[in-house]
Amino acid sequence: MPVLIFYKHLKLYAWILSPFIAVVPASLFCVYLYHIPINYDVLVVIYNTNPAEAYEFARGYMWYFIIFLVFYLFFYIKLIERLPREVSLKVSLIMSMAGLALFCVLSLFNDQPATYAAKLKEGVTRSSFGGLTYSVSNLVKNIRIASRHKELVKDFKFNARQKQNVAGRQVYVLIIGESSRAKSWQILGYNRETSPNLAKKDSQLVKFDNVCSGGYITNLAVPLYLTRATPDNYDQHFHEKSIVAAFNEAGFKTYWLSNQSNFQDVAMLTEEASEKVYLPSDYTFTKNVHMDMKLLPLLKSVLANADQKSFIVLHTLGSHYRYSARYPEEYNFFRPSTKTNLVNPTDYTKSKYIINSYDNTIRYTDALISQVIDMIRQTDATSSVSYISDHGEDMFDDERRLSQHIHPVPSKYIAHVPLFVWLSPKYRSVFPDKVSNLKSHEHSPIGSQNIFFSLMDIGNITYPQIDSAKSITSPAFKGGVQRILGGGGKVYKYSDLK
Ligand SMILES: [Zn+2]
Repeated sequence: MPVLIFYKHLKLYAWILSPFIAVVPASLFCVYLYHIPINYDVLVVIYNTNPAEAYEFARGYMWYFIIFLVFYLFFYIKLIERLPREVSLKVSLIMSMAGLALFCVLSLFNDQPATYAAKLKEGVTRSSFGGLTYSVSNLVKNIRIASRHKELVKDFKFNARQKQNVAGRQVYVLIIGESSRAKSWQILGYNRETSPNLAKKDSQLVKFDNVCSGGYITNLAVPLYLTRATPDNYDQHFHEKSIVAAFNEAGFKTYWLSNQSNFQDVAMLTEEASEKVYLPSDYTFTKNVHMDMKLLPLLKSVLANADQKSFIVLHTLGSHYRYSARYPEEYNFFRPSTKTNLVNPTDYTKSKYIINSYDNTIRYTDALISQVIDMIRQTDATSSVSYISDHGEDMFDDERRLSQHIHPVPSKYIAHVPLFVWLSPKYRSVFPDKVSNLKSHEHSPIGSQNIFFSLMDIGNITYPQIDSAKSITSPAFKGGVQRILGGGGKVYKYSDLK
């Protein structure tokens, strides 16, 4: 369409377009692998990756891609050379009008229930030029606001306090899982033995089987559990502090022990902890691989501090792809797995290997949670261990053959996450009502916004005007709002997901 503006400088226009043209092969690559163009979330992943991870991921295609890219750019440059320097005003007018007409007609074929004006707008943001510009500007905006977070929340306070004095030591642990879907947990009904350890602790656990994550990727999901932001108002978490700060205010020592790369939105939360330790693991299995059990010695040393009141977050790498790098040989239970067979994560024909490896990561997580519970039990404190996964994972479940968690329209397998709560014998005797309320909500619909309020209430923490009916420990809890943030900032209703 802009040919009309550049009709005297056609070559200049072609050069201005060249950065967008250069990105097209990468976008095609993305469409080929995941059936989506490069969007905001793909850019977040690219922004947070490193050369080793990118190479691990792309090596099966690398040479085809490079050869294609070289030919493609060569062809484009040759075309620019052959382009006339200028065209007549009349020709440029016809070209631009034809472009505009085509764009308007194509928007008619958009079958979304929206006004025609909205469809035109979506046409701009979904076109490869418009979409890329929109995504890049969104990413820059988010990086900027995240970097200002400290200043934005410097005067923020919940005025949180504990509701009553609890005698003796208190330890509240939150384990944040990664890509662990509810459907693959034996104790939630899966027909494979993926959670033998927690199965043995079944009677001591409260297991929730109807929990919807708030976001389809880590850096959307985790802030939505730990702050008061909701999928419909995600930006709220830039302007507020999280549950970590609330525990600080209530006199707790707070710890963040992480085996995760520290994405911007999550990094903002970890900053609030009194102490933090990172074991930043690469997603590869070539170097810097820390398995989640390496968090246990850190937990042990934190418990040795003998703080009277502590809140400890363990942020695990759980079941993040590459699955076979998440667990050691002795947990290679389901075979054949990708531990010994290198396969591409999107290769449906190798799904048997991929699912076996994925299920092994769940077994490993099961062992981890179980060992954390045993360690906390030994403190003899009023304590709890809660486990929730950030989001689920696609595992070639239906004819869409989706894998990992990159598709911008979340599936029900991405949204449905496990939530388990273990409460110590002392906790059960001090707060029998909370325990029975939790138990009575095992099958209630729970959404991401309930997690903040529930963890607060498990820790017996309140603040003025707290909406305690959002807590699953409350007798007033009537079920939560189950919505999930997908790609491009779109929010989906859990019950609508396929
Ligand atoms: Zn994640």
